[in-house]
Amino acid sequence: MYTELPFDEIKVNPTKKRVAYFYDQDVGNYFYGTGHCMKPHRIRMAHSLIMNYELDKKMEIYRAQPASNLEMTQFHTDEYIDFIDRVSPDNLHLFQREQVIFNVGDDCPVFDGLGEFCKISCGGSMEGAARLNNGLADIAINYAGGLHHAKKSEASGFCYTNDIVLAIIELLRYHPRVLYIDIDVHHGDGVEEAFYTNDRVMTCSFHKYGEFFPGTGNINDIGIGNGKYHSVNVPLRDGIDDATYKSVFEPVISKIMEWYQPTAIVLQCGGDSLSGDRLGPFNLSMRGHANCVNFVRSFNVPFMVVGGGGYTIRNVARTWAFETGICNGVILPKELPYNGYYEYYAPTYELDVRSSNMNNANSPEYLDKILTQLISNLDHTKHAPSVQMNEVPRDPEDWGDVEEDTEMAIDTKGGSQMAHDKMIQQENEFYDDDEKDRGEKNIEENGDTAVNGNGNGNGNGNGNGHSATALTDLEQAEIAELNKDD
Ligand SMILES: [Zn+2]
Repeated sequence: MYTELPFDEIKVNPTKKRVAYFYDQDVGNYFYGTGHCMKPHRIRMAHSLIMNYELDKKMEIYRAQPASNLEMTQFHTDEYIDFIDRVSPDNLHLFQREQVIFNVGDDCPVFDGLGEFCKISCGGSMEGAARLNNGLADIAINYAGGLHHAKKSEASGFCYTNDIVLAIIELLRYHPRVLYIDIDVHHGDGVEEAFYTNDRVMTCSFHKYGEFFPGTGNINDIGIGNGKYHSVNVPLRDGIDDATYKSVFEPVISKIMEWYQPTAIVLQCGGDSLSGDRLGPFNLSMRGHANCVNFVRSFNVPFMVVGGGGYTIRNVARTWAFETGICNGVILPKELPYNGYYEYYAPTYELDVRSSNMNNANSPEYLDKILTQLISNLDHTKHAPSVQMNEVPRDPEDWGDVEEDTEMAIDTKGGSQMAHDKMIQQENEFYDDDEKDRGEKNIEENGDTAVNGNGNGNGNGNGNGHSATALTDLEQAEIAELNKDD
């Protein structure tokens, strides 16, 4: 069953796709705390590369309306969302019981602006799903999303609210079958759990399994009830490389596409499966990771790319920029354009993440065994009755809940596409904000967030988006830390 495919250079189909990219310039300012691995700053670094590679000329850039509390309760409980919305480092002592119930603390600390961060993350994924639903985009991208561990009423693994589940719920309003694919090094447990009994969503997670967080994702966990055979788990060992990963990923996904025939796909692109990640033990190069994006894109099914884990942040930024290029049908050149975070990419200053010579613990015999079982399980997913019965409605109005652009609708549901379209950032406005953003990097080494007040950005202010600014203390410290890793 298992045959190792050669890992050739990625060839991207240059056919134009309409790509909607969601970015909120506030996202890079949120700070989990000193020493915490999760750094939202990497999303801003990726964005800076994306802009300086001029991908904004190929795709539409949006700032989503942050999700409302009501929207987030489509999956999460009211009590949990209310807590996330209200808790802060200053009033934490008032929530001692809730901290335990909702699992916030060490891995998932309460930081300044936690509620807003969650709203930005979820808003981007939900609006991305809405754009796919309305047929206004072929691909939607939200690197602030992908927080796959969050549960209905519990934070987990650096994730508080599950933007992916919310996006899939949105997609299910128009799509009979949604496929969720997860290439983060960790099992996509929160998404799997949410749809474990549902045959309208198939989840497929490729992850390190065995003495590794979160501990779930056994190959025998296949879903229950109607959802039986609609959870696919691919348990992998340390050191998997590009050729081996491709040789498992492509046949599994091909089989799912052929038998399940999803009408929309969400791809979680966690960057902790890259070689050299601070937490992940895999050995994928940037190209090996991006091959998954290119492969999914080749099926011409509407799809959404979200972020996820990724803790060697310069490599995460590189990979997400490269993958954004692939979504747009281009292979970005190796030489990095000058950008606001150029120093992070020393000493190579290249758009590349290489594999190392680490041992690959995934033997052909092991991979053959799991692939045989996975493919045989998938044989059960054809002709599932409810799959046959759910057809895509021709007219969204058939679903009876077309949104109106009332203030209330915008407030509670994010409004209609028309309202969303008004939020497209003007090019000039965007660059101005970006400059301002760079001047306001307000995170200090001590973990407090405070506007440092220099606000002038040190940029040249000509709005071309290519200027660099002086590095903040935090960035200097991070670069020092990165260089220690090397
Ligand atoms: Zn992860």
